Amino acid sequence: MKSTFHIQRNTQTHWVGDGFPVRTLFSYQDDPALFSPFLMLEHAGPTAFEPTAERRGVGAHPHRGFETVTIVLDGEVSHRDSTGALGSVGPGDVQWMTAGAGIVHEEFHSEAFARSGGPFHMVQLWVNLPARDKMTAPGYQSIGVAQIPTVPLPDGAGTLRLIAGSWLGAQGPARTFTPIQVGDVRLQAGHSVTLPVLDGHTALALVLQGRVKTADGAQADASELIGWRREGAGVMLGAVTDARVLWLAGEPIDEPVLGHGPFVMNSQAQIRQALADYQSGRMGRLD
Ligand code: MN
Repeated sequence: MKSTFHIQRNTQTHWVGDGFPVRTLFSYQDDPALFSPFLMLEHAGPTAFEPTAERRGVGAHPHRGFETVTIVLDGEVSHRDSTGALGSVGPGDVQWMTAGAGIVHEEFHSEAFARSGGPFHMVQLWVNLPARDKMTAPGYQSIGVAQIPTVPLPDGAGTLRLIAGSWLGAQGPARTFTPIQVGDVRLQAGHSVTLPVLDGHTALALVLQGRVKTADGAQADASELIGWRREGAGVMLGAVTDARVLWLAGEPIDEPVLGHGPFVMNSQAQIRQALADYQSGRMGRLD
């Protein structure tokens, strides 16, 4: 069993564009090796938005060298990118976008959600790509709520929506470049679960709702992040109250991380190239 090494909290909200009031739980600027293969985690909301006719969100911006995973719990996000693709991500849906060699996209509240207003709750996770795949072709997987299997946890502890990885005979639909597990776990008060994480792998849990505790007695509340040590296999989560947790695990990518805003590469020269490629339009444009 892995032991807990930290509970991270960030009570400081900042806005991404004018649509996403987020708390950053970690970023590659802190200590990239600690969270590898994950680069950044932002938790938006839950916040209530008033109805509006305006477009709220963030306009055209690039990414290169990693993947962005948008997990919508409440509300709806519309996106459009330089490959010509567009779509929306609603409650329970996931957009797994591979920026790879470069993409330019925009992320806004959908028109329907902006008009109706209501609760908004979202997570965005950045997943690193290994050096060999950083310049892969850009694209995304649109993973609808119906494609994500919900499996009962052992001993009636709750349920797991498996987004990536495999467990309990279920297979998460997301295709990943390195071994990764992502799950949306609901636990009933007083129950616990031991999630399978390999020895040597990173394990994290973002509490979305309620209060949970770990095997060594640490407790975490909504919007707090639990991190476990790499040594040992499996992580235990117990629900102090009814709880919902985003579970993340993966094999660390043992390569240099050099990031500059929306570009995360392996060297300073590659960052300079990314800036030049973006400025000259080689990552594409939004029409
Ligand atoms: Mn983006």
